[in-house]
Order: sequence, then C-alpha cells, then structure tokens
Amino acid sequence: MNRKDFFKRGGRWAILSGFGLLGTLLIFEQKIVLPQNCSVAPLCKNCGKYAQCKLPQANKERQHGK
Ligand code: SF4
Repeated sequence: MNRKDFFKRGGRWAILSGFGLLGTLLIFEQKIVLPQNCSVAPLCKNCGKYAQCKLPQANKERQHGK
C-alpha cells in the first residue's frame, strides 16, 4: 500500500465511522424512532390503529408529538 492508497482508505473509514457515530447519536437522542414491538407498520403515523393503539411504539410517538 502506498501513501495515496493509505489516505484514500483512511478517508473512507473516517467517513464511515462518522456516519456510524452520527446514527448512534441520533438513536440515543431519540431523533430516530426505530420500530420496536410492532410488525404492523414501521411508522405509526400511517397506521389505521394509531388513535386507539396502546403499544409502546404508539405511546412513544405520541409523547414525541409525531
Ligand atoms: S399504531 Fe399501534 S398497531 Fe399501528 S403501527 Fe403503531 S404500534 Fe403498531
């Protein structure tokens, strides 16, 4: 591996690491809602049962005002 390849690969890994870190931070800050207990729909907004649903996923979306 020459110097140019070393910097190319290093840059790619730095970018990938940055995306991974950003995704992890967004999940921990709850900016991204991951589907947890429901297999009906990934997002409650599009579900017909949302108004009456008592599942944790729906409650969490209500708390966050989504
Ligand atoms: S509203 Fe309830 S049933 Fe519908 S997607 Fe959300 S958790 Fe699932």
